[in-house]
Amino acid sequence: MSNVVNRVFRLRQRPTDRVTEADLELTEEQVPELADGQALVRTLYLSLDASSRLWMSDRKTYIEPVPIDGVMRGLGVGQVVGSRRGDMKAGDLVTGFPGWQDYSVADDTDNEFPFTVLPDPLPAPLPSMLGALGMTGISAYLGLELIGKPQDGETMVVTAAAGAVGNVAGQVGKARGARVVGIAGADDKCAMLVDELGFDAAVNYKADDWARQIDEATPDGIDVQFENVGGPVLNHCISRINRDGRVVLSGIMSQYGGAGAPELDLFPLIVARGLMRAFIVFDHQDRYAEAVDHLGGLVSSGRLKTRETVVEGLQNTLSALNDLYDGRNTGKLVVHVADPEPN
Ligand code: NAP
Repeated sequence: MSNVVNRVFRLRQRPTDRVTEADLELTEEQVPELADGQALVRTLYLSLDASSRLWMSDRKTYIEPVPIDGVMRGLGVGQVVGSRRGDMKAGDLVTGFPGWQDYSVADDTDNEFPFTVLPDPLPAPLPSMLGALGMTGISAYLGLELIGKPQDGETMVVTAAAGAVGNVAGQVGKARGARVVGIAGADDKCAMLVDELGFDAAVNYKADDWARQIDEATPDGIDVQFENVGGPVLNHCISRINRDGRVVLSGIMSQYGGAGAPELDLFPLIVARGLMRAFIVFDHQDRYAEAVDHLGGLVSSGRLKTRETVVEGLQNTLSALNDLYDGRNTGKLVVHVADPEPN
């Protein structure tokens, strides 16, 4: 592969607001040589996640920041194009953390974020293996299994509901019998949630009267809040939490760009004897198979519809990440880098 170029995004400085080309430089490098125990993976699709922005900062999180001059971290699916490991052969489709580059090395000593071979045949198209059946879908499922536990007839509110985690959380909540209200940032997204994904109601948080609309959409209060954004909507929803209500802290992406934390009034949670708890999906890798099994079953039975926004070309990954923060995606945002070679 010595004449093949590996395009690589390297983090040159930590962004302060929107991510720019000065923060992430697209370089051209040689494809790595393999040692024993390694496989070479060609990236097919890259996952763009709200947390991608967090990983560029030096803020303490559940995972080390991307080092300056390091390859930008990113989940993805790829195809093995060369192998010196016994458990992977050329042609295998794999998922893991290839990073924002064309080619990466899957090392069998990497226990933190190992590549795993995807099932053959695939239960869903490749982009869905990063979305509804990937890390974001698994997060939605586990957030509800571990914390939200929506019951038949309860009211559940989901923020960033048209996004990757949110749309799955809402549909899984519906499958569990809850009345589900989605919050999203555009009227067409709200219409999609109700008309296509079966949400019971949806509210555009950019409307002047969003708080009144949430009140009208949750006449019996809120039993489960699946929170992806943080800020004024979370505050308002907590003011409507019911006795023994649960707030699933999936994320607070309104603060990942460095914005300060707004004041949160938690008194209604005390009155409700409520539970507010966060989770990190990577802590629960032992439950991924169960999650994919459950989500795959919902897809097969038509109760979980998969949604992706696909951006063409590795070179457009940086602008696509800004699009995520501008709300331009519906469902899982992925970058299409290459097509798989037939086996
Ligand atoms: P996503 O929901 O696909 O995309 C983000 C969406 O959020 C955008 O489309 C936008 O839609 C909305 N948004 C962006 N900035 C916003 C803001 N300032 N205020 C309100 N809404 C905003 O992204 P994702 O990767 O699936 O992540 C969603 C959340 O899940 C994040 O908080 C992330 O950290 C969390 N997450 C948690 C875990 C875990 O283990 N706990 C795992 C994965 C993801 P609108 O048009 O509606 O504004």
